[in-house]
Amino acid sequence: MANDSNQSAQASTALPIHIQGLTKRYGQMYALDSVDLEIRSGEFLTLLGPSGSGKTTLLMAIAGFNRPDAGSIRFGDTEMILTPPHKRDVGMVFQSYALFPHMSVAENVAFPLKLRKIGAAECAERVAEALATVQLSEFGERGIDQLSGGQRQRVALARAFVFGPRILLMDEPLSALDKKLREHMQIELKHLHEKLGVTTVYVTHDQREALTMSDRIAVINDGRLAQVDTPHAIYNHPANAFVADFIGESTMLPLSRDSVGRLTFGDQAVTAEAPADAAADHLLVVRPERLFVLGAEAADPEKTIRFDGTVREFVFQGETAFALVVVDDRYELSVRFSTDSASSQNELQPGDRVSLGLHREDLITIPDSA
Ligand code: ADP
Ligand code: MG
Repeated sequence: MANDSNQSAQASTALPIHIQGLTKRYGQMYALDSVDLEIRSGEFLTLLGPSGSGKTTLLMAIAGFNRPDAGSIRFGDTEMILTPPHKRDVGMVFQSYALFPHMSVAENVAFPLKLRKIGAAECAERVAEALATVQLSEFGERGIDQLSGGQRQRVALARAFVFGPRILLMDEPLSALDKKLREHMQIELKHLHEKLGVTTVYVTHDQREALTMSDRIAVINDGRLAQVDTPHAIYNHPANAFVADFIGESTMLPLSRDSVGRLTFGDQAVTAEAPADAAADHLLVVRPERLFVLGAEAADPEKTIRFDGTVREFVFQGETAFALVVVDDRYELSVRFSTDSASSQNELQPGDRVSLGLHREDLITIPDSA
């Protein structure tokens, strides 16, 4: 986050967003179903979910472009639900950029300042500053059709923050760019956020992008929030099967119970105690990179869960390799290895019997909601 005095002065003008009970229906369909979300002042929060999950609907509700059926949206202490978009003072980057094709780059960026009746001299100064921030100082006189996709994206961004909004909203702003440019812009946007210190709500369906950029991620599914937490916590402690499945790779194994209610896989206890949610079925979430091949020596069952299986497939992919290992003739575990050493795990063959280990501190159990 911002830490020099100049930056924190800007950051102090950022606003928190309090969303309560937000509901939006289209006919019988709930695009948003009673969403509660606290967005902190100055944070970079990403709404992450599959197509149709309600991300754009939520962002547009914050911007004021749609009217929810119920609920509250406060910016700081001020209720906004009835405030029209142009009075919310929010910067917005649309997926399509929505630039004005007949205006130059500088005119596009100046547009929100003109709307706010900012004088010509100040306007020119602010436009120059915004273009410098997005590294387009030399491009002010160009037409939009003379720009690459990445440059258009920067113009849309400059136009969104040039007037000093306290909230910045972005709807899949990088989705039209190729992979390399997209990854470059992810880092640039992150730095821009640090510089501006503005409360930012960012929409993507790309879990890697969300993990890369965010202070916190709100995972949304079918108009409901599935989990809101830091990238680290979302990945390492998914709250439910949807989050475990949507973020990162995983295999989910059904767990049983022993006589005292502890969760078990085969004859191994997975938990030290019965889970709080005593009635529910549970799943073990196994991440491919957390599994490792056990050598000839027996692993300490106090520290390690063991899976005995047969290699079905082994694929070398350069810096990593992965194997599919069938356990109990039923469950296919995906295992990912780093290939930087010539260890025995680089020589797995289909049909090999293999024992995989998983450290107990890497165990993730979730209720099976299905
Ligand atoms: P996302 O941005 O996550 O892809 P949206 O917020 O655009 O999802 O849409 C959520 C759901 O609401 C989808 O099922 C979509 O079809 C529906 N929806 C969105 N806008 C409208 C609209 N104007 N009229 C009817 N249904 C809509
Ligand atoms: Mg959308």
